[in-house]
Amino acid sequence: MSLTWNSSIGTNRPASASTAAGVLADLHPGNPISRLAALTLIACSDADLPSLLAAARAAKERFKPGVITYSRKVFIPLTNLCRDYCGYCTFRRDPGEAGAHTMTPDEVLSVARAGEKLGCTEALFSLGDKPELLFPEMRETLRRLGYNSTLHYLEAMCELVLRETNLLPHPNPGLLSAEWISRLARVSPSMGLMLETANQSLLGKGRAHDNAPDKVPSRRLRTIEEAGKQAVPFTTGLLIGIGESAADRVDTLLAIRGLHDRYGHIQEVIVQNFRVKPNIPMARWPEPSHGEMLRAVAVARLLLPRVNIQAPPNLSAPYYEDLADAGINDWGGISPLTPDYINPEKPWPHLEQLRLRTQAKGFELRQRLPVYPEFIAQVLAKPGLLSEKLRTASSDDGFAGRVAA
Ligand code: SF4
Repeated sequence: MSLTWNSSIGTNRPASASTAAGVLADLHPGNPISRLAALTLIACSDADLPSLLAAARAAKERFKPGVITYSRKVFIPLTNLCRDYCGYCTFRRDPGEAGAHTMTPDEVLSVARAGEKLGCTEALFSLGDKPELLFPEMRETLRRLGYNSTLHYLEAMCELVLRETNLLPHPNPGLLSAEWISRLARVSPSMGLMLETANQSLLGKGRAHDNAPDKVPSRRLRTIEEAGKQAVPFTTGLLIGIGESAADRVDTLLAIRGLHDRYGHIQEVIVQNFRVKPNIPMARWPEPSHGEMLRAVAVARLLLPRVNIQAPPNLSAPYYEDLADAGINDWGGISPLTPDYINPEKPWPHLEQLRLRTQAKGFELRQRLPVYPEFIAQVLAKPGLLSEKLRTASSDDGFAGRVAA
């Protein structure tokens, strides 16, 4: 059998090595795998799964040896009004619906200060996408607060938290223009937008993104690309189990990789599994299996060997430590104070439990900031309040300086 050079996988391998075992045997350590290899691995048998996990864990150890990180955060649900209606969302509300709420500046500051006392270093701002475009009630709320739009209000609240506390804001406000990325980058060291999926057929009737105008993949990619052009450290990721195929998962990761190859700004890729909840349009939808999640995480690690890969532990409880075997190097934001408003029925593990279970897998648990160590220097390079606060918050090696007990 002749050997061919496959430049996309970066290995010398037989052209017919298309089984998972064949792909794994020919991995070239440190090189990202090809689409074809990823498609083979994400569909691997249970018998091949341990070898896939071992390869992913080895790739993680080459990238970030010995450590798994988390960000100690407070969750600030600035408004849960949203103009989208995603089929899996339990967060969003219409005006007047039970639980609909837009936080006041006092409420924002009070949550941030309470988190500060508990050693938090991140204020995660989560909010619905541009609710004022659909709801006159939100326009009225913003008028009373003194702002033209939800993004103007978000910018002011990020600045308030930055000025008045030691927390660093990380906003997740949905689609953003170039101007808004630039404005929010002045008051937050990083920001995020989940790509979720590159499969635009999920916008079709009765599917997860039916009636979700902000979930058009090309529009989300444009926001992520604009952040890249402005060198903003950016968090993105994919959702597993919302009606996409295993091939879609690979293509979503490849779309993210394409932008990171061009701009180098993707600080973190979140692999998030759908969990069913009552009272959502997808209440009867099957959840992805633990095995699907492990395969997706492992393939993400091998497609992106030098990008931080995160999976939330509360969505894989009680077996979440298995994710450490699949190549993650981060557990995401964990709050000692506020619930997970996106998945309120799945509490975060107690931090001490997380530490012990991370240690049992052979890793030290370290607290990071909302911006990862390798991206801190570029934020510090811009003088002003943000870089002053970031310098104070970070340790010499770029982790959280004020490590809580
Ligand atoms: S997932 Fe986000 S964009 Fe979709 S409905 Fe919920 S809050 Fe809105």
